[in-house]
Amino acid sequence: MKRRGKKISKLRDGERVDSADRIDKTNRKNDQKLDRKKKLVKYEALPEYLQDNEFIRDYYRCEWPLKDIALSLFSWHNETLNIWTHLGGFVVFVTLTVMSFTEKTTTVENLFAGVFRGTGDGEWMNMKNNGSGDSFPDSYARQITNPSFLDINRDGYEVAIWPWFVFLGGAMGCLISSTLSHLFACHSLRYNLFFWRLDYAGISLMIVSSFFCPVYYIFCDQPYWCIFYLTTITIFGILAIITLLSPALFSGRFRSFRATLFLAMGFSGLIPATHALFLHYGHPQVLVALGYEIIMGILYATGAVFYMTRFPERCKPGAFDLVGHSHQIFHVFVVAAALTHCVASLVIMDWRRGMGSPTLQ
Ligand SMILES: [Zn+2]
Repeated sequence: MKRRGKKISKLRDGERVDSADRIDKTNRKNDQKLDRKKKLVKYEALPEYLQDNEFIRDYYRCEWPLKDIALSLFSWHNETLNIWTHLGGFVVFVTLTVMSFTEKTTTVENLFAGVFRGTGDGEWMNMKNNGSGDSFPDSYARQITNPSFLDINRDGYEVAIWPWFVFLGGAMGCLISSTLSHLFACHSLRYNLFFWRLDYAGISLMIVSSFFCPVYYIFCDQPYWCIFYLTTITIFGILAIITLLSPALFSGRFRSFRATLFLAMGFSGLIPATHALFLHYGHPQVLVALGYEIIMGILYATGAVFYMTRFPERCKPGAFDLVGHSHQIFHVFVVAAALTHCVASLVIMDWRRGMGSPTLQ
């Protein structure tokens, strides 16, 4: 019993020392945290999980409190433009979605004119009425007169517009995930893992949702092909998300792997595109839409090259920390590509409306 009592008192002494140590460590950690609070730090001062791009030398937020991180939306650091490029894109897509739901008479042209000018009745519409600037030959049913998921063309056929909303939803999901990731991922290791997973899931979602409009409108009179292509890309998207859940793939070493995976998903669209060309090569609107999709592919690929090579900051480390580094350029290309895909989708929707054939619902 005595021995046991001695043992207990020894343990208690040890525990006391342990807890004092723990308090000391916590205090030191808190002091460090206070030091770091709202202070931008250099690359070398970052914990390993935040060291991603050694060519960006300074202006890092590191393990800031959440409130300060939220407020950093309005201050300068090396993620400011990464956040705002995609937040701006998100606002544009929200506007497009609201307009698609609410506009009583919306055309392909003034949907975009409305976003950028704040009104749906712009010069573009007048140009069309004057017969100039007609980039969509043989299209005669341009009006989205029914703000629902079904659109009625002038022959009374119902044309589903849900694939358009699937794409808008995917684009908004991707852009807001990216915005939040760039804003909050610096808070802690847990946040870092969560938000970059969310970002990669958002990119996969955007790629998958981009297939819906063109595939649906091209193949809606061939349901087996339509279902085959949409199911295949959805499965690819889910596999990509599962693959990218592995934290091992988050490091900078796997930057090219991630970009290649997304590019492979995107460029698998060449298969249905070639099929579409084979089926409808005589339709100018299909060719116009494919032309826009090629521009979209070039924009995504160019963005991915900046992302992978980390140009221009690798040529002059530290010179592009705040403005002009590769990730910001990549973001601008992503938004431009998504908007180009919007135009392609609207052209192909127009074409299907004009076809006057019944579609899948
Ligand atoms: Zn990003």
